[in-house]
Amino acid sequence: MRSNRKWWNIGLLLVLAGVMLLVRYKGILYTGVHPVMTYVESRRISDGTEDYKQLEDGRFVIHYKAGDREAANRVKAIAAAWGSKVLDYFGYQPSDPIDIIIFSREDDLKGVLRIPHGQSATGAYAGGMINLLSPDSLLGMNQDPDSVINVFVHELAHLAMDGICRGNYPLWFTEGSALYMEYALLDYEWGSGLPEEPDYTMEDLTYRFHALDDQKAYRQSFLLVKGLVEKYGKDSYMEFLHRLGSGQDFKRALGDVFGIQSVADIRNRRSVASGKGLVPCMDIRHSG
Ligand SMILES: [Zn+2]
Repeated sequence: MRSNRKWWNIGLLLVLAGVMLLVRYKGILYTGVHPVMTYVESRRISDGTEDYKQLEDGRFVIHYKAGDREAANRVKAIAAAWGSKVLDYFGYQPSDPIDIIIFSREDDLKGVLRIPHGQSATGAYAGGMINLLSPDSLLGMNQDPDSVINVFVHELAHLAMDGICRGNYPLWFTEGSALYMEYALLDYEWGSGLPEEPDYTMEDLTYRFHALDDQKAYRQSFLLVKGLVEKYGKDSYMEFLHRLGSGQDFKRALGDVFGIQSVADIRNRRSVASGKGLVPCMDIRHSG
């Protein structure tokens, strides 16, 4: 009995040590596993769209259904106009071409990306690819077909961040950053009319993002990233991203780069009126 108890204690200690290591190095572990997850996801998207045609244009390869040639040309023009602006902002130049998948129907997008039926989606960054609904499809959802520009900029920002940080960030931070990119490049402020209460904490956003009110959580994420960039400057923001990419823990990097413990310190509540409606983006990513 005594011997059993001893081994039980040793086992327990080993498990505890393992958990402590995971917590201590979770950033590094995450960046190591991330390429595998991205690959698996990209295979699933490729399999689900294998009959799609391709339109190549410089750094982008646009995949579309035969009937969506017009949409493909439109997205090609959007990518040509905005693609390098987003990538230049992040100083991110991937060596491989970037795949853009155009879906004719929301159900197709949700089916391939396994987005639950109850959720609405206008685009998603997944599997290292940009997934968009066609402008016609947006029109069918009573959305401005031109909002595909916003969705493209938003998802490409996710791609650049993912490339730099290798998935090592909480979901709220990449959503806030993608919304900030729409703000910085397109002069579009997401959710500017939304009430700014309640004040979610960073812990709420980090660990309970999906349980929060979608729109308020996205809005708050945007305001926090905007506050970070405006208060500390873009160079610090970029240094922060690169530290995450090297596997540094998010909170530790916040302290090292910005000298703060929580983004709550830097909330920037200034709102710029924008008369545009909301373009909700329900991204399906793995870094929640
Ligand atoms: Zn997003």
